[in-house]
Amino acid sequence: MKTAEYTIGEIQSLMKSMSSMYDLARIVDPIECRVLKIQDGDSFCMSEKCYDIWDSEQRCKNCSSAAARRTGCHREKAECFRDKEFHIQSNPVKIKLPDGGSYDAVVELVSITDKPEESETQANDREAENTTGDGVRFLANNDELTGLLKADAFYEKARGMLAEENKAWTMIISDIMDFRLVNSLYGVERGNEVLAEVAELHKKIADEGNGLCCRMHGDRFAVLLPASSYRESTLAKTAQTLNERFSSGIYTLCIHFGVYEITNPQIPVSVMCDRANMALRKIHRDLRTTVAYFDDAIMQQSLAEQEVISAFEDALKENRFHMYLQPITVESGEPFGAEALARWIRPDGKMVPPSEFIEILENAGMIHELDKNIWEQAVYQLAAWKNTDKKDLTISVNISVKDFYCMDVYKTLKDLTDKYGVDSSKLRLEITESVLIDNPERIYPVLAKLQEAGFIIEIDDFGKGQSSLSLLKDIKADILKIDMGFLRETENKKRSQIILKSVIAMANALGMQVITEGVETETQVRSLTTMGCTRFQGFYFSRPIPVKEFEEKYGIAQ
Ligand code: C2E
Ligand code: CA
Ligand code: CA
Repeated sequence: MKTAEYTIGEIQSLMKSMSSMYDLARIVDPIECRVLKIQDGDSFCMSEKCYDIWDSEQRCKNCSSAAARRTGCHREKAECFRDKEFHIQSNPVKIKLPDGGSYDAVVELVSITDKPEESETQANDREAENTTGDGVRFLANNDELTGLLKADAFYEKARGMLAEENKAWTMIISDIMDFRLVNSLYGVERGNEVLAEVAELHKKIADEGNGLCCRMHGDRFAVLLPASSYRESTLAKTAQTLNERFSSGIYTLCIHFGVYEITNPQIPVSVMCDRANMALRKIHRDLRTTVAYFDDAIMQQSLAEQEVISAFEDALKENRFHMYLQPITVESGEPFGAEALARWIRPDGKMVPPSEFIEILENAGMIHELDKNIWEQAVYQLAAWKNTDKKDLTISVNISVKDFYCMDVYKTLKDLTDKYGVDSSKLRLEITESVLIDNPERIYPVLAKLQEAGFIIEIDDFGKGQSSLSLLKDIKADILKIDMGFLRETENKKRSQIILKSVIAMANALGMQVITEGVETETQVRSLTTMGCTRFQGFYFSRPIPVKEFEEKYGIAQ
């Protein structure tokens, strides 16, 4: 469901009408536990702690507004404080920020009544809840492994520091590249050791600069520093120390920092962290750059991303995502199947390529909705071809790693082939290497189940990323799709040819069929054929084309 989005002016008038209907109507940031105050309809500032209103000294338990923000859905709860009962309705909203971007807040509508009579057990429970010692509070606020603050406590404390007048601040977020590899290569204990050291170094930066730091989650840390004590060289040195201490022959530890020089201390701390994070994302796979800064270009990109996200659901409902087909052929150009590639056709007829939306949808946790739609178009098409002389054609669909976290991939695909009466071996599933490295414990069993049900698994983009030959040993995929990208580097042409030839031979020896992608010239087709490759996909044979054009091109009559 889409969260309602308001400008500051709009939310101000909404709050005015709500105030007349409820005992209390306010906008809160449940991450910082602050009330947002709107000033003159075009800006807002963080005000008192939201729980001050009930005379409480600490965060409310099971905050319904935090749950509403997290899930994007309306939540309700009743809280008793002193002699009153507060019935709180929490409605998530998106507020457009004055300097661009938007921010998730919650509108709280509160009805206050006299507290109902309390039974003896309830009174005892309340007593027990109120006697929280310092040790308990430390555990609640601090991360067990590193002793650093947890994100929630960091947001709250940072707000207090940002309130200091006439002081400029800098927000830093760090992330270790491929940290999961440390755990899988050396074990969790070693992983924890690395994290403890990383935490120690962040604490040092914060302590020496009179700042504050926390472990956000996993291998992600945040530091808030007065701008006057921020030095890029300190970050570079930290990166070097970690690199020297923890790199080995097979793993190079590389930490990146995203930096946001805070221009407006009034915006929510979570937004500041998001901005440092956006800067970080720009370099997160770059081995040569350690520090990146949030700037206007990133802001523009983020606005474009938000545009994609907010238009996505309507576009999906209006069937604006079309399945294009790129033939996969034998040497003569005769197709034996096709790859399904998504194209977004805007209402003005403009075609948006996947490079402009796939990654954004992946990061926003929405890609599974698109994938499911394209899979259905593919299965529908296979069903339509069943009664033609091209009934043997296959269609390969792309599966994103995020799909495995957001839906039951097996059930979704099985339900689709059952619904349209399509033989599962006609639907091929393209999975990139990164999917396979990401979380083998979760993903391998699903793939095995899919193979058992007759689906064909293809490893996509082999040779593009950090290819690992052990992957071929662990996952018994049926088909290997080799990325032609690395053949184009003319400098290393000879070596690439040798590697390519060996990979094809190895895949064939393992009983895997090989498809080479990105074939653009006749010479490539010829040389690949002599290397033992018999299946091709690329502009030389055809670009991805609409289904109708595909049918016309290959004489598929229904
Ligand atoms: P991919 O899976 O590697 O798909 C092949 C891409 O290579 C396609 O780009 C195709 O147009 C392009 N290509 C094919 N032959 C040639 C060639 O000879 N030369 C060159 N230079 N390029 C060639 P496209 O359609 O822009 O898709 C880009 C990527 O977006 C795909 O890469 C895939 O990872 C992703 N994608 C596309 N549709 C979907 C989808 O429905 N779901 C998901 N999860 N990802 C998708
Ligand atoms: Ca693919
Ligand atoms: Ca590919």
